[in-house]
Amino acid sequence: MNTATCSNWNQLADRTLSGDCLSRPECLAVLQAADDVLLEQLAAAYRVRRHYWGNRVRLHYLLNAQSGLCPEDCHYCSQSKISTAEIEKYPLLAKDKILAAAGRAAELKAGTFCMVISGRSPNESTFQRVLDAVESVKANYDLKICACLGLLSAEQTDRLAAAGVDRVNHNLNTSEAHHADICTTHEFGDRLNTVNHVKAAGITTCSGGILGMGESDDDVIDLALALRELGVTSVPVNFLIPISGTPFAEVNSLTPRQCLRILCLFRFLLPSQEIRIAGGREVHLRSLQPLGLYAANSIFVGDYLTTAGQAAHQDWQMISDAGFVLEAADGSPLTETSTPLTAIGLSSG
Ligand code: SF4
Repeated sequence: MNTATCSNWNQLADRTLSGDCLSRPECLAVLQAADDVLLEQLAAAYRVRRHYWGNRVRLHYLLNAQSGLCPEDCHYCSQSKISTAEIEKYPLLAKDKILAAAGRAAELKAGTFCMVISGRSPNESTFQRVLDAVESVKANYDLKICACLGLLSAEQTDRLAAAGVDRVNHNLNTSEAHHADICTTHEFGDRLNTVNHVKAAGITTCSGGILGMGESDDDVIDLALALRELGVTSVPVNFLIPISGTPFAEVNSLTPRQCLRILCLFRFLLPSQEIRIAGGREVHLRSLQPLGLYAANSIFVGDYLTTAGQAAHQDWQMISDAGFVLEAADGSPLTETSTPLTAIGLSSG
């Protein structure tokens, strides 16, 4: 197989389903394929997605529980110390606000409530308040909880496990080789350590990346392979939203078709994992968003950390129109899958 050609995408799906890992030339072929074979690639990726996930789609809901004021310099992030983006900045929200957000997550049919706080890692007082909020959310809602709290020690991940946190998100973000181009205040190895602490604590691992930050195709492959080697369970695939006031404000290399090829590659290399189209879905996939569901099996509903997402009813409608069904927190399909047209202001006549 040449680097940018593949005559049979279904063979890649067969090999993936039999447990093989694609070779680097095969991975490059996925990323560098011509637009006119995109539907064939998606059909092959869908065979793998359907094997593990059927036609179910998981919804996650994000709460930016503490915003801005971060001492790190992640170049993509509006909350970093070097960002001049005009965003709301606040310390950890009070418990009643966190509970209200969890209520909103349940209302929007999300199975997982993701609590994110800005910062390198939480201090003891913030950490204790997060544990307290986790216990209250668990007591009041049938939601899985994912905590994204920055770099964590083994002692902190053990305490999160004891408090009932279901999963912890900590993204590798990019390849090891590209990491120094996106952040200088911590290293790729720091991120790996946190994910390994999460694993050791017996908490489900959620780790993915941000694509479109000037990385090469080899960096994309290295990221996916690193996540495969770590054995993470859930993989958010973000597409960079260039935010004014950040160093990456003008970086915009993605096309909707390239985003779909990246999602196909992730499905081939991470076949059984929960792959989530995360930030940048609306910005970069645009009218091709539903096609992303043929490779990925999860999306965020509601807004992102500091940018708005599309309305929840549009997400539900997209899922239903494409023949997919929502999944409950326990993994079972939700029976009420479609939104009545009248509820979204459309008449069926
Ligand atoms: S990504 Fe996290 S650690 Fe990096 S600047 Fe933003 S809030 Fe800080």
